[in-house]
Amino acid sequence: MRYDFEKFSCTLCGKCCEWKGFVFITRKDIKAISSFLKMSEANYIENFTTLAPSRKGLALTEPENGTCIYYDVESKKCQIYAVRPKQCSDFPWEWQHEECPGLQNSVITEDKSE
Ligand code: SF4
Ligand code: SF4
Repeated sequence: MRYDFEKFSCTLCGKCCEWKGFVFITRKDIKAISSFLKMSEANYIENFTTLAPSRKGLALTEPENGTCIYYDVESKKCQIYAVRPKQCSDFPWEWQHEECPGLQNSVITEDKSE
């Protein structure tokens, strides 16, 4: 699927924070989030991260329902938005998910009339 990102418009539905799946975090993310939460990096890693399935890095710990630990269901907002992980700020520019309503108007349909 290809997208025209100029047509992308986020509906603020919050689904991208509710989908099941790992939120991988970089060393830079850990530094920024732990500092934002006023915790040491070691304490943060110990309490709020888990080993990624690839064993090549860390991801945020995930509740059983799959919703991100930093997602506030009431307000539909990220509680660490200013320092959200790169994986989050990359969406939908670097990776996409067809269940994002904001992308639905951005799909480029191939013209097969020629
Ligand atoms: S799923 Fe898409 S439309 Fe909904 S909040 Fe995330 S980016 Fe915005
Ligand atoms: S860190 Fe924030 S932006 Fe990223 S998935 Fe969690 S709630 Fe959403």
